[in-house]
Amino acid sequence: MSTVLDIRALEVNYGAVRAVKGLDLQVTEGHIVALLGANGAGKSSTIKSLIGIVRPRAGKIQFMGKEIQSLAIHEISRLGIGWVPEGRQIFSHLTVEANLAIGAFAVTDERLTRERMDQMMELFPILKERRDQLGGSLSGGEQQMLAIARALMSGPKLLLMDEPSLGLSPLIVQRLFELVKWIRGRGVSVLMAEQNARQSLKVADYVYLLEVGEVRGSGTAKEMEAREDVRRVYLGG
Ligand code: ATP
Repeated sequence: MSTVLDIRALEVNYGAVRAVKGLDLQVTEGHIVALLGANGAGKSSTIKSLIGIVRPRAGKIQFMGKEIQSLAIHEISRLGIGWVPEGRQIFSHLTVEANLAIGAFAVTDERLTRERMDQMMELFPILKERRDQLGGSLSGGEQQMLAIARALMSGPKLLLMDEPSLGLSPLIVQRLFELVKWIRGRGVSVLMAEQNARQSLKVADYVYLLEVGEVRGSGTAKEMEAREDVRRVYLGG
């Protein structure tokens, strides 16, 4: 299996705040990789630096063999990285359909955009049903589906998800992670920042633990689950 994403010695600063300190992380093709850590550990900063919203102070990010740390957001999207932001960031005054169209902002082929729109409507019947409704009228779970569908509109090979389970009920979280596995089955690799360690360990192929901007450990979900410190700190005993 080849490496889709290869991050080396990533540093992200906000003024004097060192949010990410020399992070190394790889995503293997066809894997779900979970980036676990508490509030403020640097998960969002890592994800945002991958899509060009935050500029790293140092380090190298290779996506499918190409360096991307200096590229613009639309160029990164075009290469095949999709983003599901923390808190969904649905445009509440736009329709479901318009929200989806925004996900294809970097796609120049209109026919392809229409094709993908049809695919999303098929994949998410609830979005089809509500295609003319405003994004803000959807429930939290539906908004998360919309945020995922919007990211898939760019036709990504790697999907970045920032705290997808935040604020959702346990049942919806279960469905969400089933969907993430389905997405992996379609050949899309996934890097998912999460605080929900218990659920993430169930779906992830590989796990990184992030603490105050540094990787404190990594391994398969099974290896991580067996670690006493992981059980104590992340799984509550
Ligand atoms: P959360 O779950 O809260 O999003 P996180 O693990 O994603 O946490 P980051 O959001 O990456 O963590 O934050 C890492 C550190 O950087 C924190 O100390 C945070 O306060 C700081 N930070 C994040 N964004 C900014 C910003 N725009 N300006 C200044 N400091 C920031």
